[in-house]
Amino acid sequence: MYDITILGAGPGGYVAAIKASQLGAKVALIEKDSLGGVCLNHGCIPTKSLIKSATTYYTLKHAKEYGVSCENVLFNLEEIIKRKDDIVKKLNGGIAYLLKKNNVDIYSGYGKIINKNEVEVNNEILKTKNIIIAAGSRPIVPPIPGAKESKYLVTSKEILNLKELPKRLTIIGGGIIGVEFANIFGALGSEVTIIERLPSILTSIDDEIVKFYLRGLKRSGIKVLTNSNVTLIKDNLITYIKEEKEETLESDLILMAVGRKANIEDYQDLVKVENGYIVTDGYLKTSIPNIYAIGDINGKYMLAHVASHEGIIAVEHLLGKNPKPVDYSKVPTCVYGIKEVAGIGLTEQEVINKNIEHKTSKIPISAIGKALADGENEGFIKIIVDNNKHILGVWIYSYLATELISTFSVSIANNLTAKEMINAVIAHPTLSELSFEALLDAVDKAIHI
Ligand SMILES: Cc1cc2nc3c(=O)[nH]c(=O)nc-3n(C[C@H](O)[C@H](O)[C@H](O)COP(=O)(O)OP(=O)(O)OC[C@H]3O[C@@H](n4cnc5c(N)ncnc54)[C@H](O)[C@@H]3O)c2cc1C
Repeated sequence: MYDITILGAGPGGYVAAIKASQLGAKVALIEKDSLGGVCLNHGCIPTKSLIKSATTYYTLKHAKEYGVSCENVLFNLEEIIKRKDDIVKKLNGGIAYLLKKNNVDIYSGYGKIINKNEVEVNNEILKTKNIIIAAGSRPIVPPIPGAKESKYLVTSKEILNLKELPKRLTIIGGGIIGVEFANIFGALGSEVTIIERLPSILTSIDDEIVKFYLRGLKRSGIKVLTNSNVTLIKDNLITYIKEEKEETLESDLILMAVGRKANIEDYQDLVKVENGYIVTDGYLKTSIPNIYAIGDINGKYMLAHVASHEGIIAVEHLLGKNPKPVDYSKVPTCVYGIKEVAGIGLTEQEVINKNIEHKTSKIPISAIGKALADGENEGFIKIIVDNNKHILGVWIYSYLATELISTFSVSIANNLTAKEMINAVIAHPTLSELSFEALLDAVDKAIHI
């Protein structure tokens, strides 16, 4: 009899399995595909590997700005994809090693819940006290006429393994995934167009940050069509309506990046499901007390770090460790690329809409010596604090923004005020001084501005 049986070994499932085992539970982990789930095999890690190759190419092409001569810079797409595959393979092996080290029983196959204490895999019935569903999500291809038939259309999965670079790439959807691929293919030299139905891209991000990010995208040659609704795809021709006018765009490749759908089909008659996601409470418990659901399948936030965090909370809760419930208001959001965006907490617009008295501090990265030494002068940070200097939101548009944000994840999780944070001594010269100057300004006045 297992204490916990987990369906799906993505960043939710495998982290939950290791944590549960560390806490003394007997754990079964079932995976039908590859360890690491979407995140490792078709998501977070492959895209970041491609971003690294693309930014390296981009930087070498601009080497002159650093006083370095570098002529005839070329890339080999096959080698770039191979590098990505090697990294994924290495990490697959790493997860297998960690699971083995932690005595997790891995079952390769499709897991099916028979009842609340039995799961079937490969015709074997596993008896279990608890179940965690961590079955993840898949890309949506919306019912746009011609979309499914077009051989030019790919999702975020297939685009990771292209044989040749598309001269023209059209990305339908201006969310984080679409924008990251725009960065990759734009840097490698494709003519990239993003088509977005809404008035802006990256809608969960602070408006002002998006405004500057958009400028950066445009400057790097990426075209963004907002308020544009795709109505038809015929082979490589995309028809869309913008301001009541029908337009057609020809493309060598079309990436459909309009969102993801939870893999709930097996669970909708078992546990409560709403709007396509399994309903869970702050401890990830479903409508059946010994069945939990973590990660993309509960739709709270489709992010790997949320899936892993939820995995730990779920396991601690079902093993009686009394954890704090997940606080979804403290989840960082990151957009990777040549220029990055990262944020946590409320946007400035949300603070205004909630009528919270606040101060917004903004520091440009051009004020920071290390940024200039790194050849970077585009971007800024904004920190929004209330009258007691509690941090309400932090938004960064800068290179390495996704690294800077972790300081604020820690401080916000522990309710540190801006006043408390400036007690720290920050190393010089570092990009972290950008955060420090904004904190100084939030409390009183920045020094270097
Ligand atoms: C292109 C792209 C880039 C991304 N980049 C980032 C990023 O930079 N940062 C970030 O935080 N997030 C990113 N994400 C999102 C991230 O990948 C997901 O949020 C994360 O993988 C969700 O984890 P999960 O454990 O819920 O599910 P998944 O990773 O989807 O894993 C679920 C696993 O369950 C298995 N499974 C399903 N049903 C069964 C069954 N019945 N039996 C056995 N096995 C089953 C599947 O095969 C799969 O391996 C990205 C996603 C994409 C597509």
